[in-house]
Amino acid sequence: MKLKYFPYELQLRHVFTVAAMSRTTTPDVQVEIEHDGLVGYGEASMPPYLGHTVESVCAFLSKVDLSQFNDPTDIDTILDYVDSLSDGDAPAKAAIDIALYDLVGKIKQKPVYELFGIKPTVKLSTSFTIGIDEEQVVIEKTKEAAPYNILKVKVGRDPQEDHAMINAIRSVTDKPLYVDANQGWKDKKLALDMIHWLHEQGVVLIEQPMPKERIDDIAYLTENSPMPVIADESVQRASDIDGLKGAFSGINIKLVKSGGLREAYKMIQKAQSFGMKIMFGCMTETSCNITAASHLACVGDYADLDGNLLIANDRFSGVKIIDGKLNLNTMPGLGLTLL
Ligand code: MG
Repeated sequence: MKLKYFPYELQLRHVFTVAAMSRTTTPDVQVEIEHDGLVGYGEASMPPYLGHTVESVCAFLSKVDLSQFNDPTDIDTILDYVDSLSDGDAPAKAAIDIALYDLVGKIKQKPVYELFGIKPTVKLSTSFTIGIDEEQVVIEKTKEAAPYNILKVKVGRDPQEDHAMINAIRSVTDKPLYVDANQGWKDKKLALDMIHWLHEQGVVLIEQPMPKERIDDIAYLTENSPMPVIADESVQRASDIDGLKGAFSGINIKLVKSGGLREAYKMIQKAQSFGMKIMFGCMTETSCNITAASHLACVGDYADLDGNLLIANDRFSGVKIIDGKLNLNTMPGLGLTLL
């Protein structure tokens, strides 16, 4: 097996603002694993808050020697080896994991969901994110989001600014909203007031209302919230879920946090055994990782898989959005076509 990788900077269609910062590009590294003339694709996308860089991803990938393996279908052996090379590096590990599943699907002539024993009978609607912006821009972006059934809104700033964002969207549409505070609220009483107000405005789910270390305060919110409270920054891998039982209603799984599909599937099984909801989220990524997430997302409850729609230089076509819902094709592997 041969591993190839190269940096690929993602160009965002619009300036993207969350509670902490604004940006116009996202660093990304594309990964390809080749075996017997077949190629599997994966990628590492690196939002700044996780602390990874193109250099750190490439440094990790340069340590990975896949030439020692002759059978790509021995997935566990290969991924155990990759995982053993460092403690962190989840985005780089995810890129290899995703490329390997794509390759194995192509070898076995099966879609990746079938490798996990999943039948994609449910088609989830994906939310579409409306970034923080001036009122008129928010209204225009909301109108442009007509093809989507659910909108996602970044909150967690000053209450007046949060109110203005929601009011601007509500002046054009009554679609259900997901909101993400990205740890922005610091006071649990004010956060709960905000959650109740948001619920009255037709918000159906809130992500990470308070900082990840404030588990007791978040548990208070979850207990008193009229809508599900979903962990994002608080959860990376399956081992994190034990400490979140009772504190959150559900978890947001992202492949670049989990280190790939294999760990994400373990997270689904563990969270569901605790009665927790499953949301699949993403970074700004190409259709490679968005499609990979879609292969597992169909067994979850919520999908926020719009990262490929936010970039201007996608490398692939894969999962398609039809009537606002994620539709996978039945091609082997991830079902990607290079653009
Ligand atoms: Mg989030």
